[in-house]
Amino acid sequence: MPNFDLRTIVFMSMLLTFMFSMMLAITRVHHKEIHGPGYWSVGNLVVGLGMILVLIQLDSSRILFLPGMALIGTGLSLYINGIQAFTNRVPDHRIPVLVFLLLLGMDAYYMLVGHDVRMMVVLDSAVFALVYLLCARLTTAKDEGLLGTLYWIASSLFLISALVMAARALLALNADDGVFQSLATWSVNANVFMLGAVIQFFISGLFLLMLSYRLTQNMASIALMDGLTGVVNRRGLEDAAHKMQGSCKRINLSMTVMMIDIDHFKKVNDQYGHLVGDDMLRHLSKTITGILRSGDVLGRYGGEEFCVCLPNTTEQDAVGLAERIRAGVENAPLVDRRHKIHVTVSIGVADSVRVGYDFKALVHAADNALYQAKNAGRNRVVRASLVTDTQVERRRKH
Ligand code: GH3
Ligand code: MG
Ligand code: MG
Repeated sequence: MPNFDLRTIVFMSMLLTFMFSMMLAITRVHHKEIHGPGYWSVGNLVVGLGMILVLIQLDSSRILFLPGMALIGTGLSLYINGIQAFTNRVPDHRIPVLVFLLLLGMDAYYMLVGHDVRMMVVLDSAVFALVYLLCARLTTAKDEGLLGTLYWIASSLFLISALVMAARALLALNADDGVFQSLATWSVNANVFMLGAVIQFFISGLFLLMLSYRLTQNMASIALMDGLTGVVNRRGLEDAAHKMQGSCKRINLSMTVMMIDIDHFKKVNDQYGHLVGDDMLRHLSKTITGILRSGDVLGRYGGEEFCVCLPNTTEQDAVGLAERIRAGVENAPLVDRRHKIHVTVSIGVADSVRVGYDFKALVHAADNALYQAKNAGRNRVVRASLVTDTQVERRRKH
């Protein structure tokens, strides 16, 4: 092992933790919707402050070692809270408090009362090993794609840190008494801290990568979402239809598209105002979503037109579902303090058996059926297979 100087290592890793703390804080400020970076930022800040105290005590008063180590341990346990928040768990704030009190209490006892530095080093290392183990356990969270890989790497690094700390405890148990006169010159300490600093550096980098990945994921899903209703927008629909088409085609299953248009929606806007009209669009999205099966995708195709993509469904199957949607909408008026507004919808249905899997072709056929539903008096379901060529031709000329 090369002979590292403990002071330089602690000083450099302190600078790095402050840098990471600032970078994570910036993300926290700009993206409050992502939970976790706030804890990691404060965690790094607290670790950095602890390092300053440890650094000062190497040259003068050893008493600073007590809050120094307690702060480093607390900062690391804030990582735990950060991982909990990032993986949508409730952060347990008792952990950092417990670690702080445990380290401070233990170190104070063994340094000031028991005068047993060996025991202090052993127990400190054990607590650090436990904190790292918990981090490793929490980062085994499953996730598809790159994030899953990043979790896996972070978990391995935390596990290595835990093993390094356990090794430090064992080495301290077997070290000569002379070593504990000055921990600064104990070569094991310098090497452990060096390794710890390197791992710490990579873990903070991983946190930043995890964040940037989550940000990209969020941006992508926002781009595919309809801001008003919360269902997917036309791009999201095209995306979903493309994926559905791929999987249905492969195993030779049919898919169906449903076009849904609100009847006389202009009247709702004219009579109650556009804001109530918007409420109606949100209300209908919820009503329809409640009727669909898992795997069906509802999207807002445009204006007051919705579209549903249904995997493993024929036109025949979809007509039953469409009828339930039609009746569901008719029987679920929008109720607010002042009004009870009833609307109905017309629905056109087309499947891949007749039209093929192309999304545009399916939408076109379902839209022709929808047009016939409107012509036939609204508040009804029409299937594309019953629309005649003459009707389509007449619509084209219209
Ligand atoms: P029809 O039965 O023939 O469908 O009659 P309609 O009045 O619903 O006619 P059409 O489908 O052409 O009307 C679309 C109306 O939907 C016009 C527009 O004011 C309204 N609309 C479209 N997008 C929005 C929206 O985001 N919010 C609100 N409040 N209204 C919208
Ligand atoms: Mg309409
Ligand atoms: Mg319309």
